[in-house]
Amino acid sequence: MTDIIAAFATAPGSAGLSVLRISGEGSAKLADRIFTFGPLKNRKQSRTSKKRTVEAMPGYKAAFGYVHKLDNNVEAIDQCVLLRFKAPYSYTGEEQVELQIHGGTALRRSVLEEVLHAGARLAEPGEFSKRAFINGKMDLTQAESVMDLIQAETSRQQQAAMQHLQGDVLQTIKMIREDAYQLLSSMEVDIEYPEYEDFHFQAKQVEDLLGHIYSQLQALNARSRQGKILKEGMQVVLIGEPNVGKSSLLNVLAGEERAIVTEIAGTTRDAIEIAMDIEGVPVSLVDTAGLRDSDDLVERIGVERSNEYKQNADLLLLVFAVDSSMDDKIEKTVHSTLEAVKSILEGDNKPFYLVFNKIDLAKAIHDSALILQMQEALSEYFSNFQGILYVSASERRGIDTLKSAIVRYYESLDSTGGGDLVLSNLRQIRILEEAEKLLVETISQLEHLPLDITASAVRQLLSYLGEITGEDVSEQMVEEIFSRFCIGK
Ligand code: GDP
Repeated sequence: MTDIIAAFATAPGSAGLSVLRISGEGSAKLADRIFTFGPLKNRKQSRTSKKRTVEAMPGYKAAFGYVHKLDNNVEAIDQCVLLRFKAPYSYTGEEQVELQIHGGTALRRSVLEEVLHAGARLAEPGEFSKRAFINGKMDLTQAESVMDLIQAETSRQQQAAMQHLQGDVLQTIKMIREDAYQLLSSMEVDIEYPEYEDFHFQAKQVEDLLGHIYSQLQALNARSRQGKILKEGMQVVLIGEPNVGKSSLLNVLAGEERAIVTEIAGTTRDAIEIAMDIEGVPVSLVDTAGLRDSDDLVERIGVERSNEYKQNADLLLLVFAVDSSMDDKIEKTVHSTLEAVKSILEGDNKPFYLVFNKIDLAKAIHDSALILQMQEALSEYFSNFQGILYVSASERRGIDTLKSAIVRYYESLDSTGGGDLVLSNLRQIRILEEAEKLLVETISQLEHLPLDITASAVRQLLSYLGEITGEDVSEQMVEEIFSRFCIGK
């Protein structure tokens, strides 16, 4: 039997209400020692009146009453509403009582003290959710989502966390696991009974099945990329020659003056990063130092750092400044822009938008032949080219379109279709990547591997998948995960 734990589920500080959670066999009995039914003013009567008890209450029922000193219902502490849960129909799966008391630091402390005096102990961080997991109320992906939900900062993060609670990830992984189990059992039959040659698995069959599992994992992983962005924010990096207006763009996008805007080339020497929320998408926007060769050491360091940002970016905004002569030399401009993009990307297949800034200086550039040709040339050359945008940072034109384009790219990440299934948890994504790597290695060496080695790789794969759902995790890992929860969850 587990002991009784207690903690406030609501945040500290003053608030209208605070919820004290008590969980474990005997919680109701404990509550009877510090809680009495009925309004405060009747407390004298309630000593003598026939005693109602929390223990006798049915589950999912609420009662009004007051909390008082241990075994002393004359010394009231606060009026409250009590909720009764019977095992296994509670968050933790155990008998549980929740007290909704008034918010207030001193009050909270007094009530908690009485509950602890009555025999409960203070819950560790995440202990309620850990018990829920141990009692089979939720799998590990769901448990972690509870934490994500608490920490979700934007609406989309919140949606992804909700998705997990519904167990979508679990279902998909279970399907993949089943395939792997089947493959493993067939292989084990082969290993155990080498004499039944007729039934032997052909290397080709193993390869096909492993390939099938691999493609499922890959699809999950592709969706998880979006999850990772949800978790960490999408890194959007502004890149371009000095003076094209990157800092100015950053400023209007962020809606506040954070970056230094200057007319001297190469003065934005370091990268500037600003976290923002565009229509619920967490975006980290980075203004890099102007990309150009320089003899100046400080400037060179800045340029190196900007390359690092470029490498880690989820999306690049390649900024060019229009000039009034562009329309007159279409061929040349298309060619030079294409060359400039090539040299910036250096063979990377990063997704990018081409952003023409300073359109206030040029004639109507939007539908010009120049743009059409440019569009064509870029789409042909770069598979990850997302489109051309026209803005004027100084006149704040095209900024909303630019923001929508960023959101559109984000939404396109879930290219595999079928809803928003994602693993938004970094632990899970890391394991998934390990599993994918293992499969690539195994498949590539399949011809040379003896069957039992391949089988052990499949066993390892199963254990990876089990680690994601929590069906196959060490006690230590469970401890580690739940310790990251806040107290009261
Ligand atoms: P960066 O070096 O790429 O970060 O460029 P800055 O943002 O420092 O801008 C360089 C110069 O271009 C500054 O004088 C800005 O005022 C100017 N500038 C930026 N955006 C625009 C624009 O949309 N139109 C015009 N006319 N000037 C701009």
